[in-house]
Amino acid sequence: MRMVLLGAPGSGKGTQAKLICERYGIAHISTGDMLRAAVQAGTELGRRVKAIMDAGELVPDAVVLALIEERIAQPDCAKGFLLDGFPRTLAQAEGLEALGIDLDYVIEIDVPDEEVVKRLSGRRVHPGSGRVYHLLYHPPKEDCKDDITGEPLIQRDDDREETVRKRLEVYRQQTAPLIDFYRRRAQQGKVRFATLSGVGRVEAVQAEIRQILAGKA
Ligand code: AMP
Repeated sequence: MRMVLLGAPGSGKGTQAKLICERYGIAHISTGDMLRAAVQAGTELGRRVKAIMDAGELVPDAVVLALIEERIAQPDCAKGFLLDGFPRTLAQAEGLEALGIDLDYVIEIDVPDEEVVKRLSGRRVHPGSGRVYHLLYHPPKEDCKDDITGEPLIQRDDDREETVRKRLEVYRQQTAPLIDFYRRRAQQGKVRFATLSGVGRVEAVQAEIRQILAGKA
């Protein structure tokens, strides 16, 4: 199974993606995670993209397309994969098609902007493990400390409120047109496309996605 999860930053894509990939045994490909890993490792790519990411802008299409092409060629993708945070522009979607990569499903998770701002600006992470907390919805046991190690939690630069608003604007302008793009592909019988609301419990959203994947929605 090859699928794309579309949705604004903070729509819960990453959380849902992990659950889907565990359930179906497919590879989870997050361009955001790959780029953050490059920044943390201080590679040449990381140095090139850090300022762009911190500003909430998009990394150039050619850069992410090259990452995706290389990643998809790896053996763990043979059984299928889920693309999380890619494609984010029409040029990336067209680039994916030009690589000859067909998709089975595109699922859009829809969440209102104000909910996204609440979710992301309260998010804190433990840099060492990637564990994610939320000041309101999933607070750590001790203020601003990781539950397991007691180490300090941080706010990702791109989760600051002004950056979140910028990322939402970028999403509406550059990524939302993909919804129509994939709707058209669905009309041509090339992919199955569905939209669902991402407001509500993680489990409820997951159940709805599974219904779609089972062809019952
Ligand atoms: P994410 O964790 O998916 O929200 O991605 C974090 C940041 O990485 C984004 O705000 C962009 O700066 C960059 N990024 C991730 N995926 C892409 C992509 N497909 N195209 C361009 N930039 C991306």
